Amino acid sequence: MIEFRSISKRFDDGTLAVDDFSLVIPSRRVTVLVGSSGSGKTTLLRMINRMVDATSGELEIDGENVSTIEPVQLRRRIGYVMQNSGLLPHRKVIDNIATVPRLNGVPKKQAHARALELMDTVGLDRDLAERYPAQLSGGQQQRVGVARGLAVDPNILLMDEPFGAVDPIVRADLQQELLRLQRELDKTVVFVTHDIDEAFLLGHQVVILEKGGRIAQKGTPAEILANPASEFVASFVGADR
Ligand code: ADP
Repeated sequence: MIEFRSISKRFDDGTLAVDDFSLVIPSRRVTVLVGSSGSGKTTLLRMINRMVDATSGELEIDGENVSTIEPVQLRRRIGYVMQNSGLLPHRKVIDNIATVPRLNGVPKKQAHARALELMDTVGLDRDLAERYPAQLSGGQQQRVGVARGLAVDPNILLMDEPFGAVDPIVRADLQQELLRLQRELDKTVVFVTHDIDEAFLLGHQVVILEKGGRIAQKGTPAEILANPASEFVASFVGADR
């Protein structure tokens, strides 16, 4: 379980990106942070693996305060998948997937064998292993990104708009794959999107954010749809549902 307690983040230029945010993210579920651009979603997500450090408040993973864990250690335990897959263009698919395990000292042969298994897991043909990212479709690149996120065998997978850059049909496919993966692998997934439909499709827990990471409402999709907590939420989830 991940717990934010009264977390705030002020960047050096004075921007208060997150103001007194508290949330419990249960293990082995998908929690979606959804809100418009600038609401603080990415900042919140990046605090979990210390790509961003909070200015105040406490953030714990399974009772352990993240500020006491070295970022490099955290990133060995936590997978991170971002928009545009973040793949290294000059490395083959298989090397991209194996990057972090190799940095962690896993021997090449073993890291590659695992990478091939992960290609199966995310529905990528093993024949693509020797290609470079630019030789893949956008959807395939995102699958490689997910495989890379899983390569450290994390309990927690952070996903920042991972399907934002692919066309709607591929996107629907990737969303279904993620649901399958989560059921099979039993990961704690924290997923960021600005798309409320995606949030309702994927989230066990959906957290609707306003500026400054203020929680407008949180709950299951059914709870939010049945009983929007404010006009803001009602308009965000769409009056025509
Ligand atoms: P979202 O992911 O919801 O679009 P972000 O977490 O990226 O929101 O940003 C929240 C706010 O913090 C925005 O106002 C953004 O401009 C600001 N912000 C994000 N990163 C930085 C940074 N490194 N320095 C200064 N301000 C930042």
